[in-house]
Amino acid sequence: MKPVVVVLWRDAWYDASETRAEDWDSECLVKTTGWVRPCPPHGHETCDALHIAGERFPDSKKEYRSVTHVPRVLVISVRKE
Ligand SMILES: [Zn+2]
Repeated sequence: MKPVVVVLWRDAWYDASETRAEDWDSECLVKTTGWVRPCPPHGHETCDALHIAGERFPDSKKEYRSVTHVPRVLVISVRKE
């Protein structure tokens, strides 16, 4: 089984309730934990994303779900858990 990884990345957060500039965070850091998956067939010739599945079914043909797609340019670090 592939190792679980923790990916630290910068999200492009938007919250409609934050109407004043003073309410905004300068950046929104996120940690996503899961299994790195190969590129799904999303129609791009080249892929610039890291695909991380948050859930795994050990006894199913569909082994993974809840995949987060993070543009690699936003990834700060990837470490094995
Ligand atoms: Zn991809």
